[in-house]
Amino acid sequence: MDKINKQTDALDYHSQGRPGKIEVIPTKPTNSQRDLTLAYSPGVAEPCLKIVDNVDDVYKYTAKGNLVAVISNGTAVLGLGNIGPEAGKPVMEGKGLLFKIFADIDVFDLELNTTDIDEFVTIVKALEPTFGGINLEDIKAPECFEIERRLKAEMKIPVMHDDQHGTAIISTAALLNACELQHKDLDKVRIVVNGAGAAAISCSRMYVTLGAKRENIVMVDRKGVIRADRVNLEDLKKEFATTKDLHTLEEAMVNADVFIGLSAADSLSAAALLSMAKDPIVFAMANPNPEISYELATATRQDLIMATGRSDYPNMVNNVLGFPYIFRGAMDVRATTINEEMKIAAVRAIADMAKKTVPEAVMLAYNIQNLKFGKDYIIPKPMDPRLITTVSSAVAFAAIESGVARTVITDWDAYKEQLSR
Ligand code: NAP
Ligand code: MG
Repeated sequence: MDKINKQTDALDYHSQGRPGKIEVIPTKPTNSQRDLTLAYSPGVAEPCLKIVDNVDDVYKYTAKGNLVAVISNGTAVLGLGNIGPEAGKPVMEGKGLLFKIFADIDVFDLELNTTDIDEFVTIVKALEPTFGGINLEDIKAPECFEIERRLKAEMKIPVMHDDQHGTAIISTAALLNACELQHKDLDKVRIVVNGAGAAAISCSRMYVTLGAKRENIVMVDRKGVIRADRVNLEDLKKEFATTKDLHTLEEAMVNADVFIGLSAADSLSAAALLSMAKDPIVFAMANPNPEISYELATATRQDLIMATGRSDYPNMVNNVLGFPYIFRGAMDVRATTINEEMKIAAVRAIADMAKKTVPEAVMLAYNIQNLKFGKDYIIPKPMDPRLITTVSSAVAFAAIESGVARTVITDWDAYKEQLSR
């Protein structure tokens, strides 16, 4: 019954009133004939001519600077798989909604009817005049890696495949804090990554960037441990292939410090969790159901730190902590890209925020009496109003420092003040 209610609620939410979740609203007065002559012909010719003289004026006279394209071909939508561009559209509209409410960024969602890498890249490249940034979404591996790589290289606006980097950034922030709380060093921990898809590969890369040792990572897919001697090993998986004498997830888990789940529901047993080292860290992030349920994991080990992708348990690893603010910061300094420095700045800003006193408003929003840095609070909550000021300004600062910003911010207090409005 409950499931049926949830289904009906969700369908009603999307279909009632104007179908879908977003609309376009004018930002200038439109009440008089004069307004209309300014908005369109003949007045509109004036900004056109300015932009002809100086193409950068497109940022001054149009919505480009605050407009992100959320682009998908529907080949890896949520945990639903390759459901096609139309079926993916509710998700892309939803992403647009989140950009708007969390960072006041406007979004056009674009669902492309192509699974061809060249065609996808050609279409997106041609959209550069319209947008200030490109959020690639729900594109399946391995195509997503090459599409993003090529677009980053060939476009002069920020491009980010959120399923790769959003998850990597948030889970790395959570991992840094979990290691601190469990008194473990990231450069020494033994990590088992279950899953070898888009999310698993990009998360593992980020852990290495922040100090984890590649040789301490064992990656597992549906066939078991990814070993260097596996026949017909895909190129993508070679990066994290191991030469250790391990074959199964169960073998890999013995004495592991960290379990990263980016695979499928219920793929981790209580016995395997029991075999982990003291004070283990378990991020079971498969959506909607984790690799091991929160109830089973916490009943099995009292000494663990557990995170999931779910909002109904502590420590939700969710991209919404990152993408709105990463694009906000990047676009506010007209960054030409989103580079490693900017991603690392986001990781550190998110991780540090969790250690600061939580504002009363956040506890009220979640109806929680006490929220303090500890095992059940290793990363900030999505409704925390400090995220926009903290993360966006850290990303903007890193863009300037790393030389990819095309404008500078000099008055940081004023910038943060403007963000918090
Ligand atoms: P993906 O590209 O389709 O990759 C899935 C990977 O999981 C594949 O490598 C697959 O193995 C592996 N796998 C599936 N079942 C497995 C099992 N029983 N044991 C071991 N490995 C298994 O998907 P993705 O985008 O990386 O996402 C993976 C999961 O993470 C999904 O459940 C997704 O919802 C979740 N996720 C969560 C977050 C979050 O923020 N919480 C963010 C991103 C993704 P093969 O290579 O052998 O097929
Ligand atoms: Mg996604």
